[in-house]
Amino acid sequence: MQLHVLGSTGYHPNEERQTTCLMLPEIGLVFDAGTAMFRVRDLLATDSLDIFLTHGHLDHVIGLTFMFDILWEKEMRRVEVHGAADKLEALNTHLFSEVLFPVKPPFDWVPLEGEVEVGGGGTLSFFPLQHPGGSLGYRIDWPDRSLAFVTDTTADPDAAYVQAIQGVDVLVHECNFADGWEAQAQLTGHSCTTPVARVAERAGVGRLVLSHLNPLVTGPDPIGLAAAQAIFPETEIACDNMRIDF
Ligand SMILES: [Zn+2]
Ligand SMILES: [Zn+2]
Repeated sequence: MQLHVLGSTGYHPNEERQTTCLMLPEIGLVFDAGTAMFRVRDLLATDSLDIFLTHGHLDHVIGLTFMFDILWEKEMRRVEVHGAADKLEALNTHLFSEVLFPVKPPFDWVPLEGEVEVGGGGTLSFFPLQHPGGSLGYRIDWPDRSLAFVTDTTADPDAAYVQAIQGVDVLVHECNFADGWEAQAQLTGHSCTTPVARVAERAGVGRLVLSHLNPLVTGPDPIGLAAAQAIFPETEIACDNMRIDF
């Protein structure tokens, strides 16, 4: 299976990166709808589209307003946006307020109530993350592979979520800040490099992909990859349109 990292930064786009959006084109599944959401159109090859939101912050949801273009002339059987009920309610009320976006988008809101069966015989589960306003992490287990997506949280190898991602083949984890920005990370609910690598080590994952990278720092290594690889060698930094085979 292929995972596409369509957007690899957070907060706002920069000249190199759009905000958070991941896609599994084979099964028509997207995690978060940041500014990179416009890229879903070219990859969409299924007649169903499931978008799973981690939380409601704008850098993860603004792409929901792009849906008319993404779906233009596509024959869709089903388009659903999944997430915590309170976040979906807030987005429906505020992001799609007539004042902000005047037309109701062509999808259904589906609050998460438990595990969800996804394409390829996979089971999607979710778990809470510490972040202002609350965030969700996701894990998908197929019979022969697994994946976890943890964004917008302050990484801590002792946090409860580390249990939930044990042993996944691929972990995509946010890493907004390089080491040395711990106070800012705590304040904003984001992560620095070293604790993310320690989470990957503690969880015994196959490989770690760092994303939601600080948009103020450009270039291929905004967060100090060497510090992560010293702890967890199978670490790489995401870039926009990166494809991960797993
Ligand atoms: Zn974010
Ligand atoms: Zn956030």
